[in-house]
Amino acid sequence: MKPIIIIGTGLAGYGIAKELRKNGYGDAMVLVTRDDGRFYSKPMLSGALFKGKSADDLASASVEKMATDLNASIMPHCIVDSINPEEHILTINGESYPYSKLILAVGASPIKLPLKGDGASDVLMVNNLIDYTHFRKRLSKSKRVGIIGPGLIGSEFANDLLESGYHVELIGPDKWPISTLLPEKAGRAVQKSLSDAGAVWHLETFNGEIEKQESGYRTELENGKIVEVDLFLSAVGVRPEVGLARDSGLEVNRGIVTNDHLLTSSPDIYALGDCAEVAGRNLPYISPLMISARALGMTLTGTPTPVIYPHMPVTIKTTLHPIVTLPPAPGTTGEWQVEGDDSGIVGRFFNSENKLGGFCLTGNQISQKESIMKEMAPL
Ligand SMILES: Cc1cc2nc3c(=O)[nH]c(=O)nc-3n(C[C@H](O)[C@H](O)[C@H](O)COP(=O)(O)OP(=O)(O)OC[C@H]3O[C@@H](n4cnc5c(N)ncnc54)[C@H](O)[C@@H]3O)c2cc1C
Repeated sequence: MKPIIIIGTGLAGYGIAKELRKNGYGDAMVLVTRDDGRFYSKPMLSGALFKGKSADDLASASVEKMATDLNASIMPHCIVDSINPEEHILTINGESYPYSKLILAVGASPIKLPLKGDGASDVLMVNNLIDYTHFRKRLSKSKRVGIIGPGLIGSEFANDLLESGYHVELIGPDKWPISTLLPEKAGRAVQKSLSDAGAVWHLETFNGEIEKQESGYRTELENGKIVEVDLFLSAVGVRPEVGLARDSGLEVNRGIVTNDHLLTSSPDIYALGDCAEVAGRNLPYISPLMISARALGMTLTGTPTPVIYPHMPVTIKTTLHPIVTLPPAPGTTGEWQVEGDDSGIVGRFFNSENKLGGFCLTGNQISQKESIMKEMAPL
């Protein structure tokens, strides 16, 4: 009997493995991962510093424990090189592994800006435990951190660094912080709270050149200002890992294309998590992947179950000014109505039918989440 093979041991890979066992799947299961296979919750990476947590603290289970708990075989430090969908075989280091069903949970990788200058290759990105270990090591010799990308992840790292006593400067072309998820007034409230804690913002300016100095790095911004720090962190978003799927002949778009049952363009190959574009939507957050894992666990154990997303607000861990936001679906026409001040904002997005199509709550207003969720138009 050929096993189910899952590629990836992030929250999506381990999530579907758990769901399969929970639903009584009793046959062989193999998980393959290019990292060390320890279980951790990725969102903790941008809030762990202030809590004093090392990478080892964040890893809540070893690969051996995960293998025992899941009654699965886990292959760490293994990169899947290719998939042959017709033969139902994948290859790792030239060796062939047959599968009955294949599940792609290969995640997303940080977008690497085409930076110039002799310091460009020293710019860090933090997307897994190994990156985080490296980040902490560099921080131990640093006091000033420059963050390229004042979006969700950049603002969370800024918050964590400020709370941990670092000097933080944020740089990016954006007009206001977290501009893809928040209306301007809400972004400005976050900006003010982080500024009060010492953050320096350089918005609508960056020339993409990082130079090494005798000690640390510098960049000259388009507006002529100079930023000098001990390390630069880039947090400009993630891109779904589609290379393996594309090279294996699967349909890819922004993510690996699946239908609402998470089936890719190839029979017996499924995808979920940050890598997947499910019925036209790539949603790189925890709630969608948990919902997907539950649905796929049912489907693969005999009860075909489509992925149906409810409203899924995103909590942003800027503890100096917390945020809950449910941005309108891309392409929705309408407008934001925003109330409040720098201590807290309530934003409601009304669509062209004058129905509530999104919201944001910040600061002292986040407790309104449950009541505003009830106002949302049903999906
Ligand atoms: C700093 C940070 C903070 C975040 N905070 C939040 C938050 O507060 N709320 C929220 O909802 N979301 C948050 N997110 C997003 C969330 O963490 C992700 O949506 C989620 O963790 C993605 O899980 P995944 O399993 O799809 O991918 P990943 O965790 O990236 O796992 C991908 C796996 O695939 C493996 N892999 C890839 N290619 C191969 C290959 N060819 N061969 C073998 N193995 C391979 C990798 O080794 C890895 O095990 C945050 C993300 C970051 C980076």
